[in-house]
Amino acid sequence: RFVISPQQKRAEQIQLTREQQHYLYRVLRLQRGDRAIALDGEGTAWIVQLQEDSAVIIELLNVQTELPISVTLIAALPKGNIFDEVVRSATELGVTTILPTLSDRALLKPSPQKLERWRRIAKEAAEQSERQIVPTLLDPVSFNDALHLTAETRDRYLCVARGNPQHLLASLQNFTSHSLVIAIGPEGGWTSLEVDRAIASGFQTVSLGKRVLRAATAPLAALSLIAAVLES
Ligand code: SAM
Repeated sequence: RFVISPQQKRAEQIQLTREQQHYLYRVLRLQRGDRAIALDGEGTAWIVQLQEDSAVIIELLNVQTELPISVTLIAALPKGNIFDEVVRSATELGVTTILPTLSDRALLKPSPQKLERWRRIAKEAAEQSERQIVPTLLDPVSFNDALHLTAETRDRYLCVARGNPQHLLASLQNFTSHSLVIAIGPEGGWTSLEVDRAIASGFQTVSLGKRVLRAATAPLAALSLIAAVLES
């Protein structure tokens, strides 16, 4: 599976980039005549037949691996390379949009190279997990801007490790909306001011269980629950 850009497709023919040729012929050891799946990253997939530096479209693929609603993950930027893990697992679990957020306890603004790296990880994870779309990784914003940007979504959940709020699973019972937002804090947790602001803007605080999860584990736990509820 590989994701193409619109310029690569001309009628029934897809021009392969050098990177894709390397991936298909050297990494996957495919050969001329073998079949692969090309994705446009926006929901369309085709079965293609490889022809050296191009691929011929054989047929449109009708598979559906996306969650039935749009899910936005607000994730406070943790230190080090933990966000790599967050992007990879959130993509595998079906997230639609990732909004990296600077919080009072995590003010590190990532470099353009880091953002590029996370977008590449999202693309690779989308290919690996056979998704139709590549999740959108937005530019990092302040916590306040994250609240404003998601204000139109009715169902917004702020994960807090303390205070014993309702479990996310209980909050998702009888869920009927077309979208939801889930927010995960940094290693040091949200400040009480951030929790108050989020509640004032319409967020519901939720628990992911009795144990305190790492900033990389919490999105995985939350998105697994969301996927289980939406897909069962
Ligand atoms: N010492 C921090 C605290 O007291 O909030 C722990 C932060 S935890 C390492 C990072 C983030 O993961 C938290 O801000 C929260 O969003 C989420 N998280 C971790 N465990 C959780 C749990 N059991 N329930 C809900 N959210 C949790």
